[in-house]
Amino acid sequence: MRIGVLALQGGVPEHLGHLERLGIEGRRVRRAAELEGLEGLILPGGESTAIGSLLAADGMVAALRDFSARRAVWGTCAGMILMAREVSGGRPVLSLMDIAVERNAFGRQLDSFEEPLAVDALRGDGGQPFPGVFIRAPRIARAGPSARVLAKLADGTAVAAREGRLLATAFHPELTGDLRFHAYFADLARGESP
Ligand code: GLN
Repeated sequence: MRIGVLALQGGVPEHLGHLERLGIEGRRVRRAAELEGLEGLILPGGESTAIGSLLAADGMVAALRDFSARRAVWGTCAGMILMAREVSGGRPVLSLMDIAVERNAFGRQLDSFEEPLAVDALRGDGGQPFPGVFIRAPRIARAGPSARVLAKLADGTAVAAREGRLLATAFHPELTGDLRFHAYFADLARGESP
């Protein structure tokens, strides 16, 4: 089982660390050829406009779209923005998921915040909330019909969604000590999650 982390810009080492703790081989992906042999790919947080222009400059948009048709892809924060079909406050880059997102949706006061999230989809959850770490985060303004919301804030704002093997989270599981989202994504990559 090998999972790549797009390593053009943003929070790459933290994702690789979580994969390693789960006994999964991680690989930095900078070029299309490095997608070969991967079961899944993580698009990390960072700056979606910067990552988007690097992807375009490197001619990687088509390669990632092609990869996503066969394999699992998970975008965290900026990565979620890259995956969305509609983006307010920015422009769509990969258009992989049937979600509309709003960039920097929480304004200045709430630049960064933490909120425990009830996520029914997580394996072995045992009712434990997942620590949601939000940093200049986007929100999901609309999901579906083919994408379904996996997590909401207490005020009802959608912050995670799934569409088949595609996963998007507005928050940063790689910045917590909790491995459950990475384990969930590994299940998607193995084709083991219904
Ligand atoms: N605000 C960033 C963007 O719009 C995302 C922030 C993050 O990934 N932590 O791209």
